[in-house]
Amino acid sequence: MECIFCQIASGKIPSDIVYQDEEIIAFPDIKPLAPVHILVIPKRHISALDQLKEDELPIITRMIDIAKQLAKREGVAQSGYRLVINCGAEGGQVVPHLHLHLLGGRRLSGKVG
Ligand code: AMP
Ligand code: ZN
Repeated sequence: MECIFCQIASGKIPSDIVYQDEEIIAFPDIKPLAPVHILVIPKRHISALDQLKEDELPIITRMIDIAKQLAKREGVAQSGYRLVINCGAEGGQVVPHLHLHLLGGRRLSGKVG
C-alpha cells in the first residue's frame, strides 16, 4: 500500500491543506498534541531525515521557512512554537515519510521527548 503521506500529497486522501507549492505541502495533524499542530512534508517520498542526501538538504530549509510562515499565520509566532522532526523508531517516527511538526498554542513541556 502507498505511504499515507504520499496519498495525502497526491490528493488521494483528502486533507485540509494549509500550504502547498510544487514540492511541499502542509496539513493539520490528525491527532493534534497542541492547539496548533501542522505537518509540513515534501511531496516526494523521502522515508526519513536519515535518508536525505546531502544535495537534498535545501528542502529542510524550505520546510522550516514554511513552518515559520504558518506559525505567523496561525498566530503563534509571538507566543512561541516548536518544530520537531522524529527520525527512526527510537526517535518516535511512526509515519515513514519525512515530516516536520509545527506545534504551538500552549506552553509545551521543556522535555525533548
Ligand atoms: P511521527 O510520530 O513523527 O511519525 O508523526 C506522525 C504524525 O502523523 C502523528 O502525529 C499522527 O497523528 C500524524 N498522522 C498520521 N496519519 C495522519 C493523517 N492521515 N493525517 C494527518 N496526520 C496524520
Ligand atoms: Zn510517502
